[in-house]
Amino acid sequence: MTDIEQQLRERLTVVGINLFDEGLTYGASGNISARVPGTDTCLIKPSGYRFCDLEPEHFLLVDINTMEVLKGNAKPSIETPFHTKLYQQWPEAGGVVHIHPEFSILLATLGKEIVMMGVDLYRAPALAKGIPLSKFAMPGTEKLADNMVDAMKEHVSCLMPHHGCTAIGKSIEEAAKNAKVVEALAELNYKILLVGEPSPLPQSMLDILVETAKNKGLLV
Ligand SMILES: [Zn+2]
Repeated sequence: MTDIEQQLRERLTVVGINLFDEGLTYGASGNISARVPGTDTCLIKPSGYRFCDLEPEHFLLVDINTMEVLKGNAKPSIETPFHTKLYQQWPEAGGVVHIHPEFSILLATLGKEIVMMGVDLYRAPALAKGIPLSKFAMPGTEKLADNMVDAMKEHVSCLMPHHGCTAIGKSIEEAAKNAKVVEALAELNYKILLVGEPSPLPQSMLDILVETAKNKGLLV
């Protein structure tokens, strides 16, 4: 195993524990992966593990084009199809985070797209391009993967009805930050809907945020 792969395993473990500690995943739900730089392979969470129990050696090395498990004995996440399809669609993507947080599920199941507003957006400016709602499909299916890559053709995240949200980034840490901000924005949207109508930031401000993301070298 290369040092790069070992470091990536350790970074994935840290990101997973952090998502768990922040209450963004529960039980064994959700999954994360990271592309091994310069290869057509990724390291992905095994099925059935809680994020807080993950160790670096638990992640499975999977071929992005064939989904063949190249290293590891456990079963890869059932959502391996959309992780690999997102890496195929986004050659610069280095990480994928998929979680089932409360407010993303609420908003997505209401059939509402996230209105862009609030200060959290400044933490993940690439999201200012928009956070589409993907079409519903059963978890773990090719159809779900197809719906998601379709929704995320030009966007680094999406909401998934009756399910959660997914985000990508150039690194696994960037993907995790995007996913956390999607949930923060979903919470703000949901709470505002309880008392009124969400009001978006001006389009000129959203354009500036997208430019900021590009200038920072983030995935846009
Ligand atoms: Zn899921």
